[in-house]
Amino acid sequence: MKKVVKFGGSSLASAEQFKKVGSIIKKDPARRFVVPSAPGKRSSGDTKVTDMLYSCYDKAVKGEDFSDEFEKIRERYEEIIGGLGIKLTLEGEFESIKANFESQAGSDYAASRGEYLNGIVMAAYLGYTFVDAAEVICFSETGEFDGAKTDAVLKERLSGLEQAVIPGFYGSRPDGTIQTFSRGGSDVTGSIVAKAISADVYENWTDVSGFLVADPRIIKDAKVIETITYRELRELSYMGATVLHEDAIFPVRKEGIPIHILNTNAPEDPGTLIVESTCRVPKYTITGIAGKKGFASISIDKDMMNSEIGFGRKVLQVFEENEISFEHMPSGIDTMTVFVHQEEFEPKEQKVISGIHKAVHPDYMELESDLALIAVVGRGMRSTRGTAGRIFSALAHARINVKMIDQGSSELNVIIGVKNEDFENAIRAIYDIFVSTQL
Ligand code: ASP
Repeated sequence: MKKVVKFGGSSLASAEQFKKVGSIIKKDPARRFVVPSAPGKRSSGDTKVTDMLYSCYDKAVKGEDFSDEFEKIRERYEEIIGGLGIKLTLEGEFESIKANFESQAGSDYAASRGEYLNGIVMAAYLGYTFVDAAEVICFSETGEFDGAKTDAVLKERLSGLEQAVIPGFYGSRPDGTIQTFSRGGSDVTGSIVAKAISADVYENWTDVSGFLVADPRIIKDAKVIETITYRELRELSYMGATVLHEDAIFPVRKEGIPIHILNTNAPEDPGTLIVESTCRVPKYTITGIAGKKGFASISIDKDMMNSEIGFGRKVLQVFEENEISFEHMPSGIDTMTVFVHQEEFEPKEQKVISGIHKAVHPDYMELESDLALIAVVGRGMRSTRGTAGRIFSALAHARINVKMIDQGSSELNVIIGVKNEDFENAIRAIYDIFVSTQL
């Protein structure tokens, strides 16, 4: 059994957290490859080391004195090393990092040092081999992640190692320039390593006990999702549910390696298992609910629209020319509606309207703003009758007017459009009907 274990910033924010991580790793000999983030926040008012590094480097670039900020970063690591009681000095590392800040080695380089140093500390603490991600995570000259090369290099480098620590978040280009993934990218590194070593499972340790059925800011004590498929997760993440970096699913998904989301502060909790497919029957008909506010809709009416070949294409072309992506496009016989992000649309509104007039000569157009979209996602919907009925009767009972309904043919999700002001109540109503009343 081989496991890749990734620990997020809050799991490694202090010596105390490091000790929890240490005992989690030691508990299971299969936890052989460890991917750490940089130290995160110790409390809500605290600053992540990654953010400290970015702002420190900003000062360096402006030619300002950054020694105070730099000292604070050093102190974070010294506190951890001291608290762990290990024999390790990062003196030489900090010296060369300082020199590289002065010679302006790049903000990606600066940010990556959080993971780099934490990897060294973690390897010393566990007695594992340290493998610098710059040697094994490869980007192209133009900064694209090079999956094929990385896979080959990682396989080669890790094949002889019983245990190793590979810092998350960064890699390097062929000329050695350090490059990072986008924020939260250690999740991606973990997934890449899991693929390369053909792990049995990729454990992603964080500070929550898994994915919740709905946003806990809206639903107090929302239930944890036990098992979710990659496709369901994509739908929910796209609609704003966050726990894992969006790109983290691709490397492992191809190999059928499950991701297990677990809580460092409650390691016995079952967490959420993310899988390619499963015959496990979901506990509730729906797997999760997520949504976003801030959409606008443009409804276009024209008699005999349905017989006008190319109508839809011409309308969408206007959006494309104005570089506006559309979210949904429900249509009727003589009408079609395009949902877009309000922020993206507003500045170009009049250009789009005149473009549509020129392109398709509609009879009538209507615009509506301040709309929210809610995705009700669940593989269980396919085999259950009456799901849509239950959603809409719950919304009707809550006196919520439904503006739009869109069910993908995969029957994996139903998208509902409501006014922004009804957003939270709509989520509560749907949660209640599918989850609270099933307890
Ligand atoms: N430390 C980086 C960040 O704060 C990457 C990560 O934690 O995954 O975004």
